[in-house]
Amino acid sequence: MNCFKCGECCKTFGDIKLSPEEYKDLYEIKPFNAEFDNGKYIIPKPCVFYENECSIYDHRPTMCRMHHCGRINEGDKRVEWMGEMRILMDTNPEYKEFITKMENDAVEYGNKHGWSLHK
Ligand code: SF4
Ligand code: SF4
Repeated sequence: MNCFKCGECCKTFGDIKLSPEEYKDLYEIKPFNAEFDNGKYIIPKPCVFYENECSIYDHRPTMCRMHHCGRINEGDKRVEWMGEMRILMDTNPEYKEFITKMENDAVEYGNKHGWSLHK
């Protein structure tokens, strides 16, 4: 159970929003323009930090830490949306454990980097 690091979510689907603090930190690593909307910056896709894999993995923003596409087997092509992921969590304890840990870690990271998130 893991992210297979295929990079599809970095290149295509979904908006990655950044707190101003995250944007500032990432801008220092590599300057890039991001749209600002409702208090958050939005990383343009394909993500400027994707270089065959995430080039800033240890510094990846909260939303990247929070995200999983729902693929449970390498090579899966599907993208599960939140409701479907919750159903999968109810029927697959290993997946539930993976997502729960991922979300808890992301909340902890986010709350140290400009987000106000609740577990
Ligand atoms: S979350 Fe999914 S789409 Fe994104 S890199 Fe991992 S396996 Fe690929
Ligand atoms: S910061 Fe890294 S994990 Fe997040 S979208 Fe960009 S390349 Fe992917």
